[in-house]
Amino acid sequence: MNEGIAAPGRQGMAVDIACVGFGPAMAGFLTTLSRRLADADRPPIPSAAAPGLPLQVVCYERADDVGFGVSGVVTRARGIRAAFPGLDASQVPMAAPVRDEKVLYLLDPVGASRRPGALRAADAALRALGRLAGVDHHAVELPWTPGFLHKRGGFVFSMGQLMQWMAGQVLATGTVQVWPGTPVAEALVDGAAVRGVRLVDQGVDRQGRPGEAFLPGMDVAAGLTVVADGPVGTVGRQLDEVMGTPRGHGRRDWAVGMKLVVDLPESCALPEGTVLHTLGFPEPEIFGFLYVHPGRVASVGIFVPSWFESPARTSYRYLQHFVRHPALWRHLGGGRLRSWGAKSILESGRRGEPVLAGDGFARIGEGSGSTNVLTSSGVDEAFTTGVQLAEGVIELLEAGRPFTSANLRAAYLSRRRASWIEAEGRVAERARDGFQRGVVTGLLGMVLSAATRGQIALGEEAPHPADAVGTLEAFYAGRIPPAEIARIRADCEARGLPLHDALMDRAGWPPVALDGELLVTHQDALLMGGKVQAAPGYADHVTFLHPEICRACRKRVCVEICSAEAIRPGEDGVPTFDREKCVHCGACLWSCTGRIDGTERVNLDFRAGAGGLHSAEN
Ligand SMILES: Cc1cc2nc3c(=O)[nH]c(=O)nc-3n(C[C@H](O)[C@H](O)[C@H](O)COP(=O)(O)OP(=O)(O)OC[C@H]3O[C@@H](n4cnc5c(N)ncnc54)[C@H](O)[C@@H]3O)c2cc1C
Ligand code: SF4
Ligand code: SF4
Repeated sequence: MNEGIAAPGRQGMAVDIACVGFGPAMAGFLTTLSRRLADADRPPIPSAAAPGLPLQVVCYERADDVGFGVSGVVTRARGIRAAFPGLDASQVPMAAPVRDEKVLYLLDPVGASRRPGALRAADAALRALGRLAGVDHHAVELPWTPGFLHKRGGFVFSMGQLMQWMAGQVLATGTVQVWPGTPVAEALVDGAAVRGVRLVDQGVDRQGRPGEAFLPGMDVAAGLTVVADGPVGTVGRQLDEVMGTPRGHGRRDWAVGMKLVVDLPESCALPEGTVLHTLGFPEPEIFGFLYVHPGRVASVGIFVPSWFESPARTSYRYLQHFVRHPALWRHLGGGRLRSWGAKSILESGRRGEPVLAGDGFARIGEGSGSTNVLTSSGVDEAFTTGVQLAEGVIELLEAGRPFTSANLRAAYLSRRRASWIEAEGRVAERARDGFQRGVVTGLLGMVLSAATRGQIALGEEAPHPADAVGTLEAFYAGRIPPAEIARIRADCEARGLPLHDALMDRAGWPPVALDGELLVTHQDALLMGGKVQAAPGYADHVTFLHPEICRACRKRVCVEICSAEAIRPGEDGVPTFDREKCVHCGACLWSCTGRIDGTERVNLDFRAGAGGLHSAEN
């Protein structure tokens, strides 16, 4: 044990910089920092933590490998191209330059989606005009891609392949260590300062009780802790609780994104680099995408947003209906599932920005409020905040100045505030508020925000996610009588099933004809596409805090939304959790409606955990 570093009973070690999470943000940070550390033409930077050695930088990633994350990804890649000048798509597996970009408005070919009157009228007019209005395969191509959305000059990537490629470059410098399969349990907080991180305990049972192979998580002391743990990161949320959030800021808007990676059929004529953005179906609130990679492979997915009112929200079933839409099925029919995954997205953008830096810590990436909901872009923004922090950190290291709050703010925040991230984040800040009043106002609000550079926005800020979910009776008003909803609820409860399939069947959604290739059961998607795994010896990372709150809960959105059927109705009214299925998407955390004592906290706890998806293609 390293005396003075670790808590009693724990191993300890000291480094100069401890990093949490390896996503795009950390890729930006470590790319920039490792290049400087490897630069033989500049003076070496000595370690303060291990005198006589070079700077000690360690990055811990929760997932079993780097690149097991989930994203779209289409990006303008401004920050990425600045870091990799002359980037040639052929260097990165599954990457292609954006070639042909379209926005499709999808009509409802099955008559089951819940469309507001204005949209129904527009749909009827389009159908009446038919080909004259450009209707083809129940879809209309917008005459242009709005300026705020377009990705011209950018790239289609696979998140997994891009991260593995970047990690390869970082590790090749030999200046930093990256440890996958190593979740960070918490930051070591000392007053308003962070002094490093604690790794999760191993050799415990599902409740976290030590077993024979108990190995308490190590304490890693660090002069600087860089937090890049994404939208639902445990460490980021811990810091929000301890440090508070800037006035008026909060984590309100979110979405869960679910995608398939598909081997396209021979008949598909879409060239690589094709980008389709969709809206209108399966529900008007659900946006979708199809991006074509080289080698006849496509990423296809949807986003179920926080302003979707139904508590019986299910990404998987909606994704299947999306794939079956004639405008997409014409390209995908006969295709084969290669990979599948889901992850939530913090969509509050700049208004979700936490305390970005303090004594001994800094935050980058989506958890730092970098994602831009107007441009639908998060990867390049996250990467760029990482670059900005690294440039600031290099400046401090070269000047021999400590990682105090004042120094980090001067070195990091000054760069971030002066950059396009800040300027565009401000334009996007209120762009989606209109969705609080409905989908038509929401779309109008986005266009207005973009046209007035954020001066005019419609609607109001979202309430706490727990308060945003409506009731089944309201969502299905006029389509399923309350008495029948009650009967379906009782029936599903008795059979231990979620409600969404029964409700969607009743609302007119046709059964999905499974083909065992692309349209497979949710469970098969876990096996074929997600390859989900959970090593033994870790505690459950999803827990239900107060059973009585769950028993009284009528919405049970955690069960309905679970991306992997890992949360199921429990016999005593408290849901059950199966770690072997969980893909760590975090949607259950955002969805829990059991708010505790009016605080920001909800009744479902989501901690750092190991395992999850085993695919580097998503
Ligand atoms: C389906 C989908 C489609 C998307 N499409 C696009 C798109 O087309 N274009 C675009 O620009 N953006 C897109 N995004 C958003 C984009 O993926 C994110 O904005 C981006 O990944 C954020 O990067 P990040 O590094 O901040 O966080 P993340 O990518 O979330 O990375 C955080 C990392 O931290 C790790 N981590 C978390 N907790 C811990 C812990 N306790 N210990 C150790 N490690 C931890 C996680 O495993 C993860 O690897 C999409 C997102 C989804 C889900
Ligand atoms: S975890 Fe939250 S949403 Fe799920 S049953 Fe309990 S209180 Fe309800
Ligand atoms: S239990 Fe796992 S898979 Fe299900 S919603 Fe929560 S994080 Fe996602």
